[in-house]
Amino acid sequence: MPDEIIKSTAGGGLIRAVAVMSTSVVGEAARRHRTTPVATVALGRALTGGLLLAATQQKGGRLTMRILGNGPLGAIIVDAATAGDVRGYVQHPDIEVPVNEHGTFDIGQSVGREGMLHVTYAFDYGTSYTSTVELASGEIGGDLTRFLAVSEQVPSAVMLGVYIEPDGSVGVAGGLIISLMPGAGDEIAERLENSVASCATFTEMWRGGMNLEQILSEVLGGFAVEILDRSPNITFHCRCSRERILGVLQTLPQEELQTMIEEDHGAEVTCHFCADQYTFSEPDLQELLSISA
Ligand code: ZN
Repeated sequence: MPDEIIKSTAGGGLIRAVAVMSTSVVGEAARRHRTTPVATVALGRALTGGLLLAATQQKGGRLTMRILGNGPLGAIIVDAATAGDVRGYVQHPDIEVPVNEHGTFDIGQSVGREGMLHVTYAFDYGTSYTSTVELASGEIGGDLTRFLAVSEQVPSAVMLGVYIEPDGSVGVAGGLIISLMPGAGDEIAERLENSVASCATFTEMWRGGMNLEQILSEVLGGFAVEILDRSPNITFHCRCSRERILGVLQTLPQEELQTMIEEDHGAEVTCHFCADQYTFSEPDLQELLSISA
């Protein structure tokens, strides 16, 4: 099923729902960062959550989500644009965790049940702000639900799922955010709560043969869904380039560049976000030194 993002309303406009299928994006991230299955699930949920959060913004721009839990995976950082591109990494992509008694990974334990979630919005016209909440469970979906309720004052339900095939590849990744708009009364809130609580998980529904639109309808229960926009334009995309890395090298103290030239005879820089490697030769560094001198 191709990646796509669907924006919709339900309940006569009192419910807003965004759903995303992000299998290729998460597969690409796993390939680049060589993540273990548990790291793929955690990073995949975070990338999917970042795409969803970006898609709920009315203004164009980017957001950076930092999940800083006390678990063995370490920090998870995601940078997502409202235009649909996302990049991200997990600090310890090689952590192995045994499956629990349900045959799944304990993501809360692996991310950490204690810690902070920071989200920084940077809008195109220059304003930016950061909101912070404590992690609720480390499961990421529940943490984003808490973030939206506490920081954004929007009652929401966030569902995220990543299914790993027995061969280690990403079978499916996706999720949705359902939010109540101002004016939605208790009756709508209760009906929605019940339908969210009673439906299967995202990956179970997908494995049962549902497509993204069907999953969205299922979660929204009896509410009629009106699709506002659907777009296949979501990608794992990093903004790094040789020029940008050169710019960073240029800010290093001269002695450090000198050491790289004399001792290492060059430099190799790996981008955190996408794991692309950039190699700089001795002459490249000499040139930098002559520019900054
Ligand atoms: Zn990069």
